[in-house]
Amino acid sequence: MKALHKSFTQQEPIPEDAIARAVEVLRSGRLHRYNLAAGEVGEVALLEQEFAAYIEQPYCLACASGGYALHIALRAIGLQSQEPVLTNAFTLSPVPGAIHNAGGQPLLIETTLDYTIDIDDLVRATEQSGAKVLLLSHMRGHIADMTAIMQHCAQYRLVLIEDCAHTMGASWQGQPSGTFGQIACFSTQTYKHINSGEGGLLTTADPELMRKAVILSGSYMLYGTHIAAPEAESFKQTRLETPNYSGRMDHLRAAILRPQLRTLDDNAKRWNERYAVLEQALRARPEIYIPTRSKHEAYVGSSIQFSLPEFDAADIAQFIAECEQRGVMIKWFGAPEPSGYTSRYDSWQYLDKPPDLPQTQRVLATLCDMRIPLTFSIADCELIGAIIADVLD
Ligand SMILES: *Cc1c(COP(=O)(O)O)cnc(C)c1O
Repeated sequence: MKALHKSFTQQEPIPEDAIARAVEVLRSGRLHRYNLAAGEVGEVALLEQEFAAYIEQPYCLACASGGYALHIALRAIGLQSQEPVLTNAFTLSPVPGAIHNAGGQPLLIETTLDYTIDIDDLVRATEQSGAKVLLLSHMRGHIADMTAIMQHCAQYRLVLIEDCAHTMGASWQGQPSGTFGQIACFSTQTYKHINSGEGGLLTTADPELMRKAVILSGSYMLYGTHIAAPEAESFKQTRLETPNYSGRMDHLRAAILRPQLRTLDDNAKRWNERYAVLEQALRARPEIYIPTRSKHEAYVGSSIQFSLPEFDAADIAQFIAECEQRGVMIKWFGAPEPSGYTSRYDSWQYLDKPPDLPQTQRVLATLCDMRIPLTFSIADCELIGAIIADVLD
């Protein structure tokens, strides 16, 4: 019986040059981002500058996590207490959590068969609620039709915040994911595209939003040491009007991330080679539905999603259990009980009005998800495809 003997949670090691730089930071004792020697710029400011250049945005702020970045993005745009925020029902729990943390009300939108936000439902919810903010989650790297999203945002004058936790390195019609909205938030948590354990990056082209985000993140009066932010003189008023929600990144994490940024595009190619092998194997099965991705979407295939539309809950549970016995770990977004990192929207019971989303229910009911760690070889991915085919037979 074919079996895989590798871990789906095993990342590649941190590159040696990153480890060397991290050791230098440790030796210096200067770990706090504002603890700088005379004339020193610091790893965090350099990371911000390099990521801003990578994503082709003028401003970048490094912070404690992706979820924290989303929280201060919502604070920076001036979200009011109890204000509705449109967002995907199919997303990870830190997204509605960030909206709640900023005092807002998550307004969950239906999911298409292709796992993206349903634009018709978005139109309906925007009109019914009068909401002025869309927090668009590119969940699992699936990018919605950004032309339609941007038209919608323009028509209803929505502020757009992009959750790019799974689209660092991705683009739509050649435009980097994260440059469509007023603010974008990225995660550098271990399971995303660059790995510092925990961490987040916020980008924007709007100087006032950036000033607010910098002060919110806990810059004290030391914002002048940022090099991917507006001029220090321009903070005079913002610094007095904005609270400090302490959530910075430190030099150690930034030192680990900077070399990884340089190999991000190469790693995206390696992910996509693995994704293509798996996709081809899964597509060959009549039981499996895999959305055809838009030709406009350049994605980073760090995980793969597929549906088993004809399966009931018992069939799916059995399929997943048999795959697991052979070392292939598949997560099920439709599981009634939240488990591990996965929770369905109806288990976010702190929401005011538990939403009724029949289409999302249907999509999640048969939606399977698999990580593709770069420690898997192409041959490993072929083996996984063969194991899934065996289990389905
Ligand atoms: C991981 C993730 C986040 C939050 O990132 P953290 O750095 O873990 O806080 C937000 N949205 C999505 C879709 C994610 O997968």
